[in-house]
Amino acid sequence: MTGQPASGTPQNGSALLEVSDLVVYHGQLKAIDQVSFRVFPGEVYAFIGANGAGKSTLLRTIAGLHRPSTGSIRFDGRDVTRLRPERRATAGLGMVPEGRRLFPSLTLEENLLVGASYARRGEWGIERVYELFPWMRERRNQRTEQMSGGEQQSVAIGRALVANPRVLLLDELSLGLAPVVVQRIYAMLPEILATGLTAVIVEQDVSQALRVASHIHCLLEGRTTLQGTPAQVTAAQVEAAYFGLAQTPPGAGPAEQGSAQHGPAQDGSAT
Ligand code: ATP
Repeated sequence: MTGQPASGTPQNGSALLEVSDLVVYHGQLKAIDQVSFRVFPGEVYAFIGANGAGKSTLLRTIAGLHRPSTGSIRFDGRDVTRLRPERRATAGLGMVPEGRRLFPSLTLEENLLVGASYARRGEWGIERVYELFPWMRERRNQRTEQMSGGEQQSVAIGRALVANPRVLLLDELSLGLAPVVVQRIYAMLPEILATGLTAVIVEQDVSQALRVASHIHCLLEGRTTLQGTPAQVTAAQVEAAYFGLAQTPPGAGPAEQGSAQHGPAQDGSAT
């Protein structure tokens, strides 16, 4: 990674993605509890949190794979809370799922073609993905089951890109990959974002998240424990929020614009 968070993350104007008071259950378990946030164009908005914090559930709910019991999801000004997943994909919400979920017996290019089946118009196509990942071109006919984890992750990203999303939902890119491979994959983000994309990522590797994110949002047992820009939060705050030790600092009032927020966002706004 370049070490540079996404630059220029304008928070004036309209949010591209706005999630308000979201509650999601898995059976009796409240996996997401009143989570609110806004993502602005060009941001890399990162969710961090321990195992079981609800990060994947949140991302999957945005993609339409879980149905919230209450709350709303607005994308580009439109309420998509009840929209089917494929309709969200064609609207511009692209997902790179945890564990890649490629078709292992299909070739690299066939997997990319699967992604293109719900494609919007835009600059991303198979050739453009091959420009981003030049190694893919000569291995286009190789089955993905024969590829390394890092290569498969890149194919999964390519599969999402060929649909020309406006927001890329990236679930645990680093899962099962060596740190050097993770860094190589994250190093692609600036080039991807430069084509006008916005990213929402779930990342267990906190230092990686802090390196790439313009905004971080920590979940614990489904609830927001901290959110702000990487510059606004200290390592101690992140650690406390991650492990559930977060306390509102003495004398701190309700979070103000421009400062890190502890606890659920007061108004669903990004700081
Ligand atoms: P991890 O990093 O381990 O994936 P996470 O932060 O992404 O964790 P989730 O996978 O969203 O967390 O899980 C949140 C809670 O919901 C956990 O207690 C998990 O066991 C539970 N859960 C997740 N998916 C399901 C499901 N399909 N059915 C029942 N419970 C689920």
